[in-house]
Amino acid sequence: MSDTVQQFFAVRAKIAAAGREAGREAGVVTLVAVSKTFEAADIQPVIEAGQRVFGENRVQEAQGKWPALKQAFPDIELHLIGPLQSNKAKEAVALFDVIETVDREKIAAELAREMARQGRTLKLYVQVNTGSEPQKAGIEPREAVAFVGRCRDVHGLAIEGLMCIPPADENPGPHFALLEKLAREAGVEKLSMGMSGDYETAIAFGATSVRVGSAIFGSR
Ligand SMILES: *Cc1c(COP(=O)(O)O)cnc(C)c1O
Repeated sequence: MSDTVQQFFAVRAKIAAAGREAGREAGVVTLVAVSKTFEAADIQPVIEAGQRVFGENRVQEAQGKWPALKQAFPDIELHLIGPLQSNKAKEAVALFDVIETVDREKIAAELAREMARQGRTLKLYVQVNTGSEPQKAGIEPREAVAFVGRCRDVHGLAIEGLMCIPPADENPGPHFALLEKLAREAGVEKLSMGMSGDYETAIAFGATSVRVGSAIFGSR
């Protein structure tokens, strides 16, 4: 068995253990395996080992490897976890199944238009910049609940959940707690939070999906 597949099984086991420890029901936490920078040859063994949900952060990079993999494995669910430019909305809607990074009006409008045009319904999350970091994508926490409402009422988009990337140099717990509180206020159920360094903590704070890259595929 390859190192990658062994690491994949180890992460899956740790997710299950963290869920038990937190008193979560079995199977409620989805692993999004983040395959950015890795090639199809690195990804395919993980698919063959049973993983079906993957994350990529760039539309163009994903277009280079996922169409063939999705054709070979039609039940793959591909998540966009990086910022989306409005001129890439068409390509993103055609390739991805879930977009986790809706964070402004213009993107919401573009996605609504493209989904209608292509007859595709993607699952959508709003990204929240929980640390209000100037260089980071995501809507400000104080605007998040109203933005979810506008996505629904103005653009006709059903938002499933919220996503965050806490500041790298801070204890992530308070950021996960804030995201959970905002999701409750906004009336959405899914919480995408936790990466290789903190996914077990995120599960304790209620994550319904964790985005894990380097702990599975190795360092980038
Ligand atoms: C790269 C990335 C991840 C995975 O990070 P790791 O630390 O490698 O697990 C998760 N979420 C987002 C948004 C990313 O860009």
